[in-house]
Amino acid sequence: MQTRPAFGGNLMATIVCPNHRPQMSTVRPGVMEKAAREPGRKGQLIKLEAKFAEKDIRTKVLEVVKSAKEMVSLTDAEVIVSGGMGLGKPEGFELLKQLADKFGGTIASSRASVDAGWIDHAYQVGQTGTTVKPKIYFACGISGAIQHVAGMQNSGLIVAINTNENAPIFDIADIGIAGDLYKVIPAIIEEMDKLPQD
Ligand SMILES: Cc1cc2nc3c(=O)[nH]c(=O)nc-3n(C[C@H](O)[C@H](O)[C@H](O)COP(=O)(O)OP(=O)(O)OC[C@H]3O[C@@H](n4cnc5c(N)ncnc54)[C@H](O)[C@@H]3O)c2cc1C
Repeated sequence: MQTRPAFGGNLMATIVCPNHRPQMSTVRPGVMEKAAREPGRKGQLIKLEAKFAEKDIRTKVLEVVKSAKEMVSLTDAEVIVSGGMGLGKPEGFELLKQLADKFGGTIASSRASVDAGWIDHAYQVGQTGTTVKPKIYFACGISGAIQHVAGMQNSGLIVAINTNENAPIFDIADIGIAGDLYKVIPAIIEEMDKLPQD
């Protein structure tokens, strides 16, 4: 069963090809859990000599220029605090960062916040962003559009904070908090500050 976006990304279609073999599909990083290492299993390294004649190579690496963009590793993060249009302003990400820092995690965003110019695309979670699978995913002021959910629905624990108690994000949340993120997040931080520091 292969899942892929269809109709301009407005729905996720499950593709089944019962009759034809072989089949091939691609999987985005972060979609699947790493398999546990089997004890005693040995791999075999086969060295293949690649023989190219210099004259046949038309492409040459002239220079390697590192991207000036901030490097963000959403796929490795164990805790992600993600913000959407409910933040109301780009400065809202500073509050999310405070919560993320409490967990040693990172911030992320919905596409709408990226489109609004509040945060770089590197932070975008979803169908046209990064697929993530952290242990905890906080969705703060994010409605839960299908394209966003496609990129985070396999997270371990989903905590949604939204003023609209009918927001679709609550359909997939393990913990749903109907409230203003500007009140809820400081309250969570305050409670965490009471915990023993180690
Ligand atoms: C082809 C295609 C690809 C797309 N790819 C992506 C993608 O990769 N990722 C992605 O995220 N989207 C993607 N989208 C866009 C997606 O459809 C949504 O438009 C987007 O996810 C909405 O972002 P949002 O939830 O931040 O904003 P909104 O839908 O505007 O939701 C804001 C939410 O904040 C809540 N809110 C308001 N104030 C507060 C407050 N003070 N406290 C708490 N909650 C509050 C509101 O109730 C609302 O639910 C794509 C769309 C298309 C068509």
